This record gives sequence, C-alpha cells and structure tokens, in this order.
Amino acid sequence: MIKGIFPVEKFKQLDTPFYYYDIELLRATLQAIKKETENKRFHVHYAVKANANPRILKEIAAFGFGADCVSGNEILAAMESGFTPDKIVFAGVGKSDREIEIGLDNDIFCFNVESIPELEVLNTLASAKGKTARVAFRINPNVDAHTHKYITTGLTENKFGINEQDLPRILEVMKDSSNLQLTGIHFHIGSQITDLKSFEDLCVRVKELQEWFNTQGIKLPVINVGGGLGINYQHPNHIPMADFESYFRLFEKNLQLQPNQELHFELGRAVVAPCGSLISRVLFVKEGIQKKFLIVDAGMTDLIRPALYQAFHHIENISSEKGPALYDVVGPICESSDVFAEQIMLDESARGDLIAIRSAGAYGEVMASRYNCRNLPLSYFSDQL
Ligand SMILES: *Cc1c(COP(=O)(O)O)cnc(C)c1O
Repeated sequence: MIKGIFPVEKFKQLDTPFYYYDIELLRATLQAIKKETENKRFHVHYAVKANANPRILKEIAAFGFGADCVSGNEILAAMESGFTPDKIVFAGVGKSDREIEIGLDNDIFCFNVESIPELEVLNTLASAKGKTARVAFRINPNVDAHTHKYITTGLTENKFGINEQDLPRILEVMKDSSNLQLTGIHFHIGSQITDLKSFEDLCVRVKELQEWFNTQGIKLPVINVGGGLGINYQHPNHIPMADFESYFRLFEKNLQLQPNQELHFELGRAVVAPCGSLISRVLFVKEGIQKKFLIVDAGMTDLIRPALYQAFHHIENISSEKGPALYDVVGPICESSDVFAEQIMLDESARGDLIAIRSAGAYGEVMASRYNCRNLPLSYFSDQL
C-alpha cells in the first residue's frame, strides 16, 4: 500500500488527535485552479464553510481568490484573513438582520438571495443605511447532483433557492426596490459531485434561464454556478487533486458568455479536502467475536462526516509496516455511529500507533464539536513542523 508522506517522528511528540495540513499540496491545488481560471472571465470564491482555519484562509486569500460566505461571522473571518469585501458573496436561506448589516456595512460584492421575503428585508435594511445592495437570485435549477441526499441542494422542494415559477414575482419586487441592484443569477446544486454530467445539466438550465431574462430585457453581468466539485476519497496518494482542467473546460465549452459577462465559481471541498489529515493514536485494539476494533482517540467530534453521511475516508497506519490486518476503526464517543470505517485493511496495529484519516481538510475541523466535553482538535501545518 502506498502511504502518504508524514513527519511521523515529529508527530510522535505531539498530543493527538490533531489536524495536519499539507501546505505544499494546498498551494499546488490553488495554483492548479489559478492556471485554469486566469486570463478568462472566470472568478473563484472559496466556500469558507469548508474550512475556516485562519491559516488556510490566509493561504487562499493570498492567491487572490474571493470568498463565498454563509454567515455574517464568515464574512468577518474572511476579511480578517485578507479577503477583500469586493470579492465576497453571501449566500444562505436564513440571513439575520445583523448578518445582512455586516454585508451592507462592508459593501460586499453580492448577496445571493434565496427568497422574496429576504429580498424585501434586504431592500429595507439597505435603504435605512442609504446603500445599494447588489443581489443575485439563487435559482433552484432542479438538477440532480447524483450525490448523497444530505448534500443535494438543487432539487425542487429543497429549502434552498428560488423556484423558477417565482421569478416574475421577484422581478416585480425588484422594480419596487430602489436600494437593490441585480448583478446576476446564482446556482449551487450539491456537493461531492464526481459525475461531471450534472454540471453539463446545470449549464443547459443556465442557458434557458438566461434566455428568459433576456426576453424580459434584463442583462446579467454575473453567472455564478456555485461549487460542488468532488474529490477522490478512495485514492488520496494516487489522485491528490480534483480534475480542475476538465471541470473548468466543461463550463468553457457549455456556457458561451455574453459580452462582458463573468462566470463565478464557489469551490470549497475541492480546494481544501485533500490537504488535510486527521492524525490520531490507537488507544486499544479490542478483539470482538468476529471482528477486531481499533479504538482510536479521534472521534466524530473531530470529524463527523462518516457518522453524518456515511462518508468514506482512506485510513492509514503511518507508524507501522507489519503487514495487513482487518479492522473496524472506531472513536471513543458514546454514539454507535462513531465509526470511521468498517472492515478495512490496515497495517497490523498496536496501542500507541499513529493513524492518518485522509482527505479530511473539508468539513472536518470546521465541524468539530465539544460533545462529551471533548477538547477541540488542534491544527498543525507542514511548513511549521
Ligand atoms: C457549500 C457551498 C459551496 C461549496 O460547496 P463544495 O461542495 O464544498 O464545493 C458553494 N456554494 C454554496 C452556496 C454553498 O452552500
């Protein structure tokens, strides 16, 4: 089994569990995205919710990318780490007045609006401040992302987005809203999408909607196709990065931009998932009747994805090379769902061995909780160890 390269001797001196971020891989990923988008009318906003660790945010901001935020505090965190407000977009079905005001006070690039009442409140709050808010309509394209149901967002009767039949009413509301300015339309169909065909379906819908807006005499300066590009969780050592080339070329081929129109993207997972690993120690090897349990000191409070949506993470024993054995890898939390993997092959493991749970840079540390009064996991960076 090919293993990831980790500074294991240094890890042995550290308390576990912790997140370890490979900064070189993060930079290589950012460079790959930059290569596919520079010199085009393509703009990338990093989805902060995937990982809001300040060091990670700073690395991404330093490449000149924008930020996609889903709360007022994410806007503040993004700005603190160097993202400029003119590249910040703000999505979310339930923006509070305070959060909208954070966006208005900082003159963010765009509010991605998800309902008529939100549009009305935004106009009222903007008018009270004598400001004009730029808005994009988040439209529900009814495209199936073919991913886990908890991370599918683009189907009708999903809480996200505006349905197409409401668009005429939305335009009426816009006419009465002197403090709003339409910048474009926004979509986000789901997450961990590995079948690029879903994005082709999205492009078809974007074209249809754009034509409808044109018949209303409305030009859209911005088309925002959201995020969702998946990564390969099975083979982090062979396929360390998403296929950005195919992804961006798909949009180039399937969406002809109108003059001066910009295409915006909101990638989260594909940017940060590969560079992060959750490092944990084996506490006990427990012999069951049919199975062997590897009880490790990381749990669902550190990485909830397997418990929350049966997500797969590749796991390696990084301190042993004793040849393979079959294990269930489980955490210490008092929940039966606190399982990282069932019946997987690992190098034969013993108390004290170090385990790497790979591709955990997205929706990992950021979702950590203090359930069971546990400490939050620490984080270390490859260039600091
Ligand atoms: C979560 C989210 C994203 C990022 O999704 P990924 O699958 O991590 O790329 C982008 N846009 C919006 C509106 C989101 O909610």
